[in-house]
Amino acid sequence: MTSNEDKAKILIVDDAPSKLLATAAVLDSLDQTIVSVTSGAEALRRLLHDDFAVILLDVNMPGLDGFETAELIRQRKRSEHTPIIFLTAFPDDAYAAKGYSLGAVDYILTPAAPEVLRSKVGVFVDLYHKTEQIKRQADQRVLLAQEHAARIAAERANVAKSQFLTNMSHELRTPMTAIIGMTDLALSEELPRQVREYLHAVETNAHLLLELLNEILDLSKLEAGKFTLETAPFSLRRMISELRQSFGYRAGERGLEFHAAVADEAPDALLGDSLRMRQIIMNLLANAIKFTERGRVSLRVEVDSATAREAWLRFSVTDTGIGISKEDQERIFAPFTQVDASTARLHAGAGLGLAIASELVRAMGGFRCVQSELGKGSTFSFTVPLQREPSRAEQRSPSSPDAAAKNVNPLKMGPAESKLRVLLAEDTPTNQLLVVHTLKKRGHHTEVAPDGRSAVELAEAENFDVILMDLQMPGMDGFEATAAIRALPGKDRVPIIALTAHTMVGDRERCLAAGMEEYLPKPLDLRKLIEVVECRAHVASHRACGNS
Ligand code: ADP
Repeated sequence: MTSNEDKAKILIVDDAPSKLLATAAVLDSLDQTIVSVTSGAEALRRLLHDDFAVILLDVNMPGLDGFETAELIRQRKRSEHTPIIFLTAFPDDAYAAKGYSLGAVDYILTPAAPEVLRSKVGVFVDLYHKTEQIKRQADQRVLLAQEHAARIAAERANVAKSQFLTNMSHELRTPMTAIIGMTDLALSEELPRQVREYLHAVETNAHLLLELLNEILDLSKLEAGKFTLETAPFSLRRMISELRQSFGYRAGERGLEFHAAVADEAPDALLGDSLRMRQIIMNLLANAIKFTERGRVSLRVEVDSATAREAWLRFSVTDTGIGISKEDQERIFAPFTQVDASTARLHAGAGLGLAIASELVRAMGGFRCVQSELGKGSTFSFTVPLQREPSRAEQRSPSSPDAAAKNVNPLKMGPAESKLRVLLAEDTPTNQLLVVHTLKKRGHHTEVAPDGRSAVELAEAENFDVILMDLQMPGMDGFEATAAIRALPGKDRVPIIALTAHTMVGDRERCLAAGMEEYLPKPLDLRKLIEVVECRAHVASHRACGNS
């Protein structure tokens, strides 16, 4: 049985109801939809709305006869190609000729043998079905081609957008390095109170701008699927305790209580991307503090489920703040969305934090949840799977022996005990100035090479304790220069530290694979720069004495 939608329509036009019935009965076994009408005018009306596989048209009818009806059928766009079979009781060749001249496909004398009539009509029904099928296939192909073209165009636009954002972010980071670094350096000097205040304002705003830049870059990488998560050992309790320290202080400043707790049964040594986890939690905590006037903010880590190899941990941040209405609860996860743009201005932020957090949770294979009541507060939580790490978590990079031991700002510590000779390969004059002055504060001497080739020549001619290598330089770049220095006799051990404004995924790995020891992103954190330079020099000198 064919469904009604798949059936072809056959139109029978005859003024004699008995003949209509007889013809319909013959065609019944074709299992198609038969429409019977008793006049040419009615046939024309039906043809306005429906497509027919074939029309069986009586020649002799009162009013419009068969030939006149056929002529009008042919004049209409919709039915100009519909096959017409004339039915007549008069065997007249002149009539038949007229019928054919009007575009008939057949001229049958009635009464016709039922099987002849059925097979003749059947041919046109088959033809109709085949044509419909071809039309459907053609439509489908056009649709597929359009979808394919749209997908390619969207992919190209996405690649272009992400490339544009990467380039822009690189171009913006380079001057930001100078602004943040120079402000930092200036703040380490003796300054009149007023000037110090101005500089603090510059520093705060430069950091806000940098944060926005990082958020836009993160989101574009996440959206373009160019984002990879690192898997490294970390201690859950150490991470939470560090967050407790910094956010406890921020909450305290706003007169809020702050609590952070990890459930006893939660494993501590885990494998995962702790930096990105921290980023998500920091965003939720910053929002909780931002949108809470009084009361408390708390962070809690619980075990959702666990096996011997992995644990699903739920991180929840709860506040007693302004809360979010039901309608807004999903909306706020979209980029650049804030519940109330006017209050948001009061609280600062671009509405990107939750969008990034949400994408990160998804990339980690987890899920997020929000519960909130207007005026009472909110709980944002996310649950992610983390592998257990059997051996204890290690710290990612060692810090300067002096600075780490004393936990003070190395920029303000005065000269270091051992003075180092540092080679800086860097083509931007402001960055040269920044690094030279920063290291000078600790009594270290820096030679500057403005490009890769002169860095290699200087490294060959002199002995340096540490080499700082910008990756993007005219002529020979940082990767090539590192390879050339490593190939020099006796230079396989000198620590080479990459400096770069490129923060694309995999850059760190590329630097390490090229023979560099460390990777410092721009804008440079000057304290970190000193720590890393001193620590790497320290480790290298111990290694040289056989003490590593
Ligand atoms: P931003 O905070 O930078 O504006 P987010 O994406 O982090 O961007 O947050 C989007 C919006 O969600 C915020 O502007 C605010 O309206 C709402 N929101 C987020 N967290 C909270 C919270 N804990 N309490 C009330 N509103 C919140």
